[in-house]
Amino acid sequence: MTENLCVVFGDQLSQNITSLRNFRKKQDKILMMEVVNETTYVNHHKKKLVLIFSAMRHFSENLKKQGYSVIYSKINNSSNTFTEELIKQCKVTKPKKIIVTHPGEYRVLQEIKKWEKILKIPISVPDDDRFFCSIDEFEKWADSKKELKMETFYQMMRKKHHVLIDENGKPKGGKWNYDVKNRKRLPKNHPKIPNILEHKPDKITNQVITDVKKKFSKHFGKLEPFWFATTHEDAVKSLNEFVKNRLETFGPYEDAMAQNEKFLYHSVLSMYLNIGLLEPKQVIDKVLQKKNISIESIEGFVRQILGWREYIRGIYWHTMPKYSETNYFNAKNNLPKFYWTGKTEMNCMKNCLNQTIDDAYAHHIQRLMITGNFSLIAGIEPKQVCEWYLSVYADAFEWVELPNTHGMTLYADGGILGTKPYAASGNYINKMSDYCKDCKYDVKKKEGDNSCPFNYLYWNFFLTNEKKLEKNPRLWTVFSNIKKMSQERKKAIKNDSKKFLSQISN
Ligand SMILES: Cc1cc2nc3c(=O)[nH]c(=O)nc-3n(C[C@H](O)[C@H](O)[C@H](O)COP(=O)(O)OP(=O)(O)OC[C@H]3O[C@@H](n4cnc5c(N)ncnc54)[C@H](O)[C@@H]3O)c2cc1C
Ligand code: SF4
Repeated sequence: MTENLCVVFGDQLSQNITSLRNFRKKQDKILMMEVVNETTYVNHHKKKLVLIFSAMRHFSENLKKQGYSVIYSKINNSSNTFTEELIKQCKVTKPKKIIVTHPGEYRVLQEIKKWEKILKIPISVPDDDRFFCSIDEFEKWADSKKELKMETFYQMMRKKHHVLIDENGKPKGGKWNYDVKNRKRLPKNHPKIPNILEHKPDKITNQVITDVKKKFSKHFGKLEPFWFATTHEDAVKSLNEFVKNRLETFGPYEDAMAQNEKFLYHSVLSMYLNIGLLEPKQVIDKVLQKKNISIESIEGFVRQILGWREYIRGIYWHTMPKYSETNYFNAKNNLPKFYWTGKTEMNCMKNCLNQTIDDAYAHHIQRLMITGNFSLIAGIEPKQVCEWYLSVYADAFEWVELPNTHGMTLYADGGILGTKPYAASGNYINKMSDYCKDCKYDVKKKEGDNSCPFNYLYWNFFLTNEKKLEKNPRLWTVFSNIKKMSQERKKAIKNDSKKFLSQISN
């Protein structure tokens, strides 16, 4: 007879997770499950499947070595759902109580809420305190505010956790935000960027690669070469490499994009953070220990983890389940097939999509200003965009993916998360990258044959949604330009857009 059965999900691979905190090796057991539905609810990238299964198997082996009793259900002989597998395992272990840390996703929480009734066993769901801000704390903050601005939230977090705050309680360096200094394009003769750390698959990972090849061959993306860390120790090595070689230059080039540089100075740590191989506090501590580093880079990076990541999670739990249904612009177009194949003549899109197919990774500006921007100005239905982002990135979990997609990228929430839609024309892409020089389309051309689709789709987006956006003070310049636009120009924009959108929908 088991006292407590502690369920650990694939994104809870931290030994300090709350469900294991009072674990007693003699009486309690751990249950880890690879179940069918979790692999198929979207068309997950093959590398993402390998990452999660391999990290789970390593985590379980490590626990066993330390004397924990672990029941591990592998995908080849597991059930369809967590609930079915849990029922099966409870028949054998007969636990008095089930403990599971608050899950990352709303969908899973709804499943857990039914367990007590089905199993007739008490269920305890402690908070996931790997985050700096609890769900309750965010709720209190949100209830006290008219607008849920990330900047206000971030400043509160900096003060509360005393991060980059001087002895007088003021922000270090004198400012809260160094974004203006962090918008550089990568210069032509920029020195070679240090490579990110690639990890060689071990025996466990190779076995998972074989399993995924057999069972998930139709899933999205390239499986090999597989180079992700799958253990806590290896993820720490990746963190150390980033802090040593790339953190200093993270700030200035965080918005840059370049054809042959997939990672630039980004940390490539989100996939490890999101499954628990690294903890946000550990990452912030490591970064703050680094000496002689510019405030632009350190603040720019801290803002991502202590600001954006925590804020996004707060917004998710504050607004679910309604958030996933939002579609402010009533966008209805289908996601073009090239999002899955990478086959398009738009060089910026081709680069970001092929990189996604190869590595299940694209950095933030590629996701927001290329693939995301295109889906916004092409009027693609938010649910389809959301499903794509949830499938193709190794770090994609709904709590972080959904607000980034529906809120930040598509403005489908009507402005809960952002103050204006992040729509941009080819001009922005040309300013921040070297994609346009090798493109079939002409970025300088506004309309007609060979003109850059981002140019006319940009204006078409504002013309189509004029009524919903014209009063937004942050879009004053856009609409004052529209007012000056001739009827012929408007007609040309609409015609070019219609023609292009109908071509890509075929
Ligand atoms: C449409 C869209 C979808 C996205 N989907 C996801 C997703 O599914 N999972 C995910 O982790 N991030 C997502 N992001 C946020 C961001 O793009 C990724 O976290 C980042 O690109 C990961 O790469 P990195 O580790 O090199 O990040 P870095 O640029 O090195 O940033 C450091 C860390 O900050 C955090 N971070 C930065 N920006 C954000 C943000 N906007 N929201 C939350 N955390 C942030 C991440 O943990 C990241 O590892 C999405 C962004 C957009 C625009
Ligand atoms: S010209 Fe337009 S489509 Fe081509 S790379 Fe530049 S922005 Fe993208």
